[in-house]
Amino acid sequence: MNGFRFEKTPQALFLDRDGTLIFDKDYLHDPEKVELVAGTREAVRRALDAGCLLFLLTNQSGVGRGFFTMRDYEACHRRLVELLGIRAEDFAACGVAPEAPDAPSRYRKPSPAFVLEQLAAFPRLDPARCWMVGDRKSDWQTGLNAGIRSAAVATGKPIDDDARAFLRGNAVPLFENFAAFADAAFGGKNQTPAG
Ligand SMILES: [Mg+2]
Repeated sequence: MNGFRFEKTPQALFLDRDGTLIFDKDYLHDPEKVELVAGTREAVRRALDAGCLLFLLTNQSGVGRGFFTMRDYEACHRRLVELLGIRAEDFAACGVAPEAPDAPSRYRKPSPAFVLEQLAAFPRLDPARCWMVGDRKSDWQTGLNAGIRSAAVATGKPIDDDARAFLRGNAVPLFENFAAFADAAFGGKNQTPAG
């Protein structure tokens, strides 16, 4: 248990894809290989039922590196939506950064641009009740850069000492997986955040 308690129910989640909603398969471009992390479908449903806005924010440098195309990305996204059992429009907006790491990019995490644009588009959102959820420091830094909260999940990049120090130093809670985050945020049994 990480002992983290949400003071208020989140109004919006900015969700990383690889290593958070689905398993991180390097440069995923085959829809057949999209694989949900256990409990994610139910967790997404719980968030939507709670009236929480869902956004997707994903770095896809494989496009900029020439490994696959946006068409491949979009095919994988359709498969993700299908596996989640939601409608495409259940994501209020999706931010995709297809650039290679060394190329100029508006949305590539840890850029806060996408989050800030959505906060402007949905003025009812209280930044203190908006969360960036992801498996990497670039995700957590995105939330911090945008002035919202960040949460970590342990289903992607291994949480090493450096990551742990970052989480501790920035009061970013760590959860076993997205389902555990949703249990803590929206209520539910099987509440098993990571330590
Ligand atoms: Mg990730």
